[in-house]
Amino acid sequence: MNGKYLEKAEILCVGTELLIGDIVNTNAAYLSRRLAALGIGVYRQAVVGDNPERLRADLSAALERVDLVVMSGGLGPTMDDLTKETAADLFGRRMRLHAPSLTHIEEYFRAAGREMTDNNKKQAMMPEGAVVFPNDYGTAPALALESGEGKVVVMLPGPPRELEPLFREQVEPYLMKRCSAVMVSRNLHIVGMGESAVEAAIPREILDAANPTVAPYCATGEVRLRVTARAASEREALALCDETVSKLRRLPIDRYIYGIDVPNPETALVDALRAGGMSVVTAESCTGGLIAKRLTDVAGCSDAVAGSAVTYQTREKERILGVPSSLIEEHGVVSEAVVAAMAKGALSRFDAELAIATTGYAGPGGGTEQEPVGTVYVAIADRDGAEVTRLSLSSRRDRAYIREVAANHALVLALSFLRKKL
Ligand code: ATP
Repeated sequence: MNGKYLEKAEILCVGTELLIGDIVNTNAAYLSRRLAALGIGVYRQAVVGDNPERLRADLSAALERVDLVVMSGGLGPTMDDLTKETAADLFGRRMRLHAPSLTHIEEYFRAAGREMTDNNKKQAMMPEGAVVFPNDYGTAPALALESGEGKVVVMLPGPPRELEPLFREQVEPYLMKRCSAVMVSRNLHIVGMGESAVEAAIPREILDAANPTVAPYCATGEVRLRVTARAASEREALALCDETVSKLRRLPIDRYIYGIDVPNPETALVDALRAGGMSVVTAESCTGGLIAKRLTDVAGCSDAVAGSAVTYQTREKERILGVPSSLIEEHGVVSEAVVAAMAKGALSRFDAELAIATTGYAGPGGGTEQEPVGTVYVAIADRDGAEVTRLSLSSRRDRAYIREVAANHALVLALSFLRKKL
């Protein structure tokens, strides 16, 4: 290996199963993400079947274009697993038995209580001069081959539960020593604005900057704004990111940002409740317990989540939450007055400081002219009063989408209600 830094990479996945659509190429997505984080640009992803001529041609062409080729698959024990042999041939290296790998594979079989067959020994055959990464998650070790001109081929086993930890734990540190830059990202999570509205609200000079880059992208029910910086060290890259994040937070979109690098709104809400020593109750109609489900998905939520009442039928809103029937008759069950009464009812029946209530039309049937499918009322209440928000979620989307997005909004509304109080 000479002193050259790795900057450009291609990903080459091997497997006929991928070509015929039997499996989805999750390895390519995973590897691209991890390489970007290392500051290595991925210029191409390709898939090739278990065919030695095409594999050789694709690998050789990729090595003409870039310094690093990361391959997945084709390291198995059978005759059609040819990745290592093909790369060795291309680099002019002989295959040799790699004794530490053989011992490792024998130990793996012994620990798993399985019989080792002769063809597993093939997995311990390595090209001369290869850097071998032992595999504790399966039988095929990963490896890297380096050419005299500073070109590197990394080969990883196909199964993601082997490839991912091998890459993270061993290949990344190996590649890091060969990278000039590190890449760091911050994700701003936004609810209440669409992707194009977010983009339109950001000045061009921020959107067009090369370092850090700012890119909005859509996730279910929210928009994420990813800020990515490259620098010589992680500290410098983080400082660059934070400078751009501060600029973004001075824009009007700030009020829609519910968190930075948080996994989801429910985690942010549980954290805020715990910080304030408070707990929440949900009173749900159209969301059917989805908000409570998501809150209780957060590990360690028990001191922040009191409970939930899923009151789907009108009479249960009256019976369980004490919503007056006169209120329902006067305003209709999908209304500001009823959702506020649901939240207040939940507070009087549960030992909680905060209540979230929902009522609406998730479709596809139902709805009225004034309140079409996609209309959802959300109330957030504490002992001092309730705040109600009317959401108009697109009626063109399906029921699952409307419920998921309504739950997102409700969680974020609860979070901003709480932040004003704390
Ligand atoms: P093994 O050591 O298990 O034989 P291998 O390196 O030979 O692995 P393959 O035989 O190509 O890998 O694939 C094994 C399995 O790994 C596939 O059946 C599939 O489930 C999964 N797999 C392979 N490639 C990918 C990929 N690109 N994305 C997601 N899964 C994959």
